[in-house]
Amino acid sequence: MLSEHPSAETEISRIGSYHAHVYFRTPEERARAEQLRAAVAERFSVQLGRWHDRLIGPHAAPMYQIAFAREVFPVFAAWLMVHRNDLVILLHPNTGQPRRDHQVNAIWYGEVLPIMNPEQLPEFSDEAEIITPNTTPAR
Ligand code: ZN
Repeated sequence: MLSEHPSAETEISRIGSYHAHVYFRTPEERARAEQLRAAVAERFSVQLGRWHDRLIGPHAAPMYQIAFAREVFPVFAAWLMVHRNDLVILLHPNTGQPRRDHQVNAIWYGEVLPIMNPEQLPEFSDEAEIITPNTTPAR
């Protein structure tokens, strides 16, 4: 019996973009995060955010953000599985529900770190993020 439900494509249509947050907790991890950043820049059309050596927002460790469009997800998410340099990475969608995106909808690579002060993340947001790639992948 066919049930009437929205297509999977429709169900994910509220994902506007994604973030990958690359964490580093020691100088050694920071060095690996630099290597990962360079490797990403050479391969993917993404928006590399600046280094945050101090805690910011809901993040439990220093990090930088990689923002990317839906189309980039399939290859990038798979590539990160095998090239993350043993770093902890939080990959979350941006669906317009920031709190849920970080607490419920996220994928963690490696350990799961706490989400700090989640009550400060808005439950709903209608700010659509414009991804402006700042990498120039060579291939
Ligand atoms: Zn984020």
